[in-house]
Amino acid sequence: MYKELEQKVAVVTGGSKGIGTAISQRFGEEKMKVVVNYHSDEEGAQEAVKAIEEAGGQAIAVEADVSTEEGIQTLIDKAIESFGQLDVWVNNAGMENQKSTHELSLEDWEKVINVNLTGVFLGTKAAINYFKEHDQQGSIINLSSVHEQIPWPTYAHYAASKGGVKLFTQTVAMEYAPQGIRINSIGPGAIRTPINAEKFDDPKQKEIVESMIPMARIGKPSEVAAAAAWLASDESSYVTGITLFVDGGMTLYPSFQGGKG
Ligand code: NAD
Repeated sequence: MYKELEQKVAVVTGGSKGIGTAISQRFGEEKMKVVVNYHSDEEGAQEAVKAIEEAGGQAIAVEADVSTEEGIQTLIDKAIESFGQLDVWVNNAGMENQKSTHELSLEDWEKVINVNLTGVFLGTKAAINYFKEHDQQGSIINLSSVHEQIPWPTYAHYAASKGGVKLFTQTVAMEYAPQGIRINSIGPGAIRTPINAEKFDDPKQKEIVESMIPMARIGKPSEVAAAAAWLASDESSYVTGITLFVDGGMTLYPSFQGGKG
């Protein structure tokens, strides 16, 4: 637990399920005040709000599409209206869909880029403007992926979006470091959430994925949330522009395990 996070205000995009819910709940355990953003799953967001309140934090659920400026403005406005300030912004909302690149429509491409990359830009920009206006040193956390580093055939739009998040994060981290605004990414590996539940429920597919992870297991959303809490806290006060991989070693070239190659 990080004492300094108590009473701090965070916005978590895409907080109605998966990693976003886990981060929101962890922030609740840190006794923070959380704006839980959802796009369509109001029920999931309300459950997250309840879990945060039960853990000792405060929360509201706010509907908004992060790929639009109006959506992002709504999140800032609600945070200020309900909790009076903003300290931490988590760009977590994301989506993926598998398709061979030669069959990928422009619409498919734009959907993923708009949420995963443009959404990160819009959220980061809004948070930076708030922090600058209030002369404040905030923390911005972007959910990237191991696929900012590892190519992923049939997910070209997803990999492109996460590769974009990597250099966007590094660039803005450098740009706003003089003001003490810290911007970092988390790169999850294979984490069990609704985004991949179907895949991991299939024992064969699960075995294939586990064979690519040195720690030989799928990760838990709470393990990603622990990284988010650290990046939000003062314990990471000298850390900016990194991607903190939470991947059981997936980015370590596991095919070389045991001296192969
Ligand atoms: P998920 O599908 O369980 O949750 C994604 C959330 O984003 C959902 O709540 C969804 O409603 C929300 N969302 C989608 N479009 C939105 C929009 N336009 N506006 C607002 N919210 C929107 O996925 P997850 O596994 O929890 O993933 C969270 C983040 O972590 C994503 O950015 C994802 O790419 C990344 N990630 C996940 C994994 C994994 O293994 N689960 C691995 C690497 C990276």
